[in-house]
Amino acid sequence: MNKNSLQFWLRRIGLSAIALLLAIGIHSYLSPLAAQEVLKVGTEPAFPPFEMQAPDGKGLTGFDIDLFRAIGEEANLEIQFQSMPFDGLIPALQSQTINAAISGMTITAERAQTVDFSRPYFQSGLAIAVRKDSKDEIKSFDDLENKKIAVAIGTTGAQEAQKISGAEISTFDNSALALQELSNGRVDAVVNDAPVTLYAIKVGNLNNVEVVGELLTEEYYGIALPKNSPNVEKVDDAIDELLQSGRYRELYQKWFAGEPAKLPLVAPALKGEGAAFSWSQLFRNLFWGALVTIMLTALSVFFGTIGGTLLAVASISDFKPLTWLSRIYIDFFRGTPLLVQIFMIYFGIPSLIQSMGLDFSFNRLLAAVTALSLNSAAYLAEIIRGGIQSIDIGQWEASQSMGMSWRQTMRYVIFPQAFRRMLPPLGNEFITLIKDTSLVAIIGFEELFRQGQLMVATTYRSFAIYTAVALVYLLLTFIASRVFSWLEKRLDPVKRASKQASPKGSAKTGIGESLT
Ligand code: GLN
Repeated sequence: MNKNSLQFWLRRIGLSAIALLLAIGIHSYLSPLAAQEVLKVGTEPAFPPFEMQAPDGKGLTGFDIDLFRAIGEEANLEIQFQSMPFDGLIPALQSQTINAAISGMTITAERAQTVDFSRPYFQSGLAIAVRKDSKDEIKSFDDLENKKIAVAIGTTGAQEAQKISGAEISTFDNSALALQELSNGRVDAVVNDAPVTLYAIKVGNLNNVEVVGELLTEEYYGIALPKNSPNVEKVDDAIDELLQSGRYRELYQKWFAGEPAKLPLVAPALKGEGAAFSWSQLFRNLFWGALVTIMLTALSVFFGTIGGTLLAVASISDFKPLTWLSRIYIDFFRGTPLLVQIFMIYFGIPSLIQSMGLDFSFNRLLAAVTALSLNSAAYLAEIIRGGIQSIDIGQWEASQSMGMSWRQTMRYVIFPQAFRRMLPPLGNEFITLIKDTSLVAIIGFEELFRQGQLMVATTYRSFAIYTAVALVYLLLTFIASRVFSWLEKRLDPVKRASKQASPKGSAKTGIGESLT
């Protein structure tokens, strides 16, 4: 072996050794991570003190969050929290988008049909909250008859409220919104988990709210996992360990006063029966929801068209301040999300007026129609203005030279032509509006989408129900688009003239005949 080839081999061995060391290094660096399983944990972060946004805005905090982090350490699992709506947690577990859910979730027989629960980790119960000025009127569950009650969607509080006869129930996305509704004076009571209501009264800005009577139920919270998840046992063992080591007590006392209650091994509710899903109920609910959606759309189109026409006239007028005002209006309502506008109108305006010492609250229908009409007026104004301005100026001049007034010109010459040009964008706006009505579900309005959500919240058949909801929207928008294309054809003078010339023939032969 000569010197050169020796050097060659030494270099090769050296390089291989470095590569080997690097590989070992990378492997040992990565392996602890690889060994630690990642668990995606869903939670609805508007349920303080169990789960909420941390004060610095970064990440989550609360009793449940601390507890699950401790479970993660105990069971050697890496925890990743994911925020989602409460009524979306069980569907997300079913589809395995998340591996577990901790969200102050009560262990119930219905839920246990679709998910597995850990052993109980917290004892809770439902309480009635009222405004201080009505505490003499509502003292117990029986006093809630025929009252207005706010609840959070898909919760045990919502189920309990269903049992009250004659009650008018509004469902909100979370209990914070329901309590806000009570504080704003729009409902008489809220049925919600006692620890959460008490915390909101103490820490939140709800000094006009109070809890009355005794607890309505005894409930136990559990961690929910997909059916037959291998993690159930790990989580159970970790909770046992935390209870025995005193770590659970420490966490409890960080968030609540006093000693934690003794927890059973199995929640008593699991001995009960679950609710069943029925197709006829689904169709009935969707039918009512569709009627509400149609009513909302019709009212909003009606008021939106009046508003839009006024705005369009203002925007082409010669009086400059009027033009500017209508521009500001259109820019604002087109430039901000409809959802934000709904919140501003429903929650913002009443609380502003109340802070001025006046008694004011918005009825939900009024708020929904106002928001949708104000918003669609902005879009309609642009469509109407565009349509009018698209008509050649020569037509104005010709009409004027024939001695027609502004109104006559508009009515007989400009508008009929402009209207035909407006039809396609008007059709688009109408279809958009049908779909946009689903946004008012957020203020508890029981239109089509909300009816679906409410059914998913009790039966957990998310795929079947949301598909049915989508099909009903599709049917509504399909009918709307057919009506608009029929209108377009009817108002087309060429086609109409040809039809008159030859009632049986097509448009083409009609023109042909009239030409020959
Ligand atoms: N404990 C109630 C339930 O499980 C409410 C939970 C919640 O709103 N996060 O239904």
